Amino acid sequence: MTLPAFTVLRPRTLSEALFRLQENPSQVRILAGGTDLLPSMRQRLFAPEYVLDIGGIRELKGIRQTEHGMEIGALTSLREIEHSCDLEQHYPLLVQAAKAVASPVIRNMATLAGNICLDTRCLWYNQSQAWRKSCGFCLKKDGNLCHVAPGGTKCWAVFAGDTPPALLCLEAEIEVMSAVGTERIPLRQLYTGEGDSYHRLQRNQLITRIILPSTSADLRGSYRKIRVRGSIDYPLAAVALALKGDEERIEVLRVALTAVNPAPTMVEGMAAAMRVATTPSEFAEVVAELAARTAKPLTTSALTPEYRREMIRLLARRAFLDVVVAGSGATIRTSSLR
Ligand code: SF4
Repeated sequence: MTLPAFTVLRPRTLSEALFRLQENPSQVRILAGGTDLLPSMRQRLFAPEYVLDIGGIRELKGIRQTEHGMEIGALTSLREIEHSCDLEQHYPLLVQAAKAVASPVIRNMATLAGNICLDTRCLWYNQSQAWRKSCGFCLKKDGNLCHVAPGGTKCWAVFAGDTPPALLCLEAEIEVMSAVGTERIPLRQLYTGEGDSYHRLQRNQLITRIILPSTSADLRGSYRKIRVRGSIDYPLAAVALALKGDEERIEVLRVALTAVNPAPTMVEGMAAAMRVATTPSEFAEVVAELAARTAKPLTTSALTPEYRREMIRLLARRAFLDVVVAGSGATIRTSSLR
């Protein structure tokens, strides 16, 4: 599959990039690492007139400690996050999640903001144009029906980024800039929960920084995912868990899911549930049950919805026990299905 024709714009500075975005917002696609955009363009999911290659803007790269926590430039590669000693020390959950993305080659190219903005995925959508045409296309692109939920008007394509559930557990914020201004919003407000228009960024806006607050520093964490090919795949169900405390007393417990809903999703009700559990195994069961209830998998992915929901239950239980019982919370746990 060849790429469609397009014009590359290659700004050297952030202000030039924002100006270019403002000029033709509806006809521009942003190229960061390109690991998702370029395959999608080959499949004709996008055929933009202009591709704005922002990879050369140095001010959007790097990891910095601040008096309020840490800041990560939007174009920082997942490899740099994976190898950051500061992040490993203070935000180990994010490092675990970054290590779980695809393969080393892709992590060399892929950026944190790219993973945050990853397009939602569906078996009926991430296919060649000829394949999609043979099925009459679908709501998300070129068609007027949903093969996953026929009769409905909503797209249920899943969000399958690895780092966003970890960032949600860390209560990360993002800085968003356009030619007309800058705003800072909690990451959880970025996502809409719709499979087609899945984020709230305007076409003239760019994520410039990801901010990790000091209040989330030094939380222990575990990230567990299942995928078909252990060496490279997107998650088919995954759980991020951040915790402060120990077996005797849990002060903070946050859990988020990915690959089972159209957005990365926090598991709610954790504080109330913690009050009724008294032992680590009871806590683990409560966490697992809440996580399974939050997951809403459909037939968008390679494994059945029932299996993926049960895997969420299992992964949540194991993630909790990783941190509370094993006490390490520093080891990547991924499962493949070979
Ligand atoms: Fe298309 Fe439905 Fe899949 Fe959305 S969930 S991509 S509308 S088939």
